[in-house]
Amino acid sequence: MKQREKLYEGKAKIIYATDDPNLVIQYFKDDATAFDGIKKGTIVDKGVINNHVSTKIFQYLEDKGVKTHFVELLSDREMLVKNLEIIPVEVVFRNVAAGSLCKRLGIEEGKHLDPCIQEFFYKSDPLHDPMINESHIKTFEWATEAEVVTLKSEGAKVNQLLMEFFKARGIRLVDFKLEFGRNQGDVLLGDEISPDGCRLWDWETGEKMDKDRFRFSLGSVEEKYQEVYNLVCGEGK
Ligand code: 5GP
Repeated sequence: MKQREKLYEGKAKIIYATDDPNLVIQYFKDDATAFDGIKKGTIVDKGVINNHVSTKIFQYLEDKGVKTHFVELLSDREMLVKNLEIIPVEVVFRNVAAGSLCKRLGIEEGKHLDPCIQEFFYKSDPLHDPMINESHIKTFEWATEAEVVTLKSEGAKVNQLLMEFFKARGIRLVDFKLEFGRNQGDVLLGDEISPDGCRLWDWETGEKMDKDRFRFSLGSVEEKYQEVYNLVCGEGK
């Protein structure tokens, strides 16, 4: 697979074209940002870890019947994926209260959420990803009614599957963000599934093992990402 021109560079990843218009390469960087890019830094080997962790999780989800953009792992930092027309909506699932939910509604961090909470955010850096609801999505035609049904149903299925996946590895899946896109008439799960976009707590101790360690300068950032890698992908890289 020949790598061609850079199509897009985001905060944590670069997308390159290939000689097949239906396929692109997702390159994982070590760059880390938080609070709308106000905090910037590097998490050493994050790109390698997130690429391998996402690969393992996409393969698991595909095995369980979830359609994703994943095609194959190309190298430590490169993943071959299907070219998506991104739906500009972030789908968040919350199983335990944390982050913006606590801030917005004054809920105590750590409260078990049953049933889980599902939220939509509009993917827009200049607007700081504002929270939206289904009627915004339909009126502004960010997705069709049928696509919204898919985002909710596939998202809920992914939440169930990921909760089981992480629980079996001693990790509590607190919350996470999904992105979807269109490809040849299908809606596919895109982006990455890694400690950058999921809150992951040690099942026993409650210790944070995700990007909140970077966001809030909690220390041991690389060590905790490595721990997630070891639990998800097995010992040794
Ligand atoms: P919150 O709304 O509490 O900030 O985030 C909820 C969950 O979605 C967290 O797991 C967080 O990591 C993830 N999330 C929300 N927005 C983004 C985003 O723009 N980038 C990344 N990497 N994760 C996000």
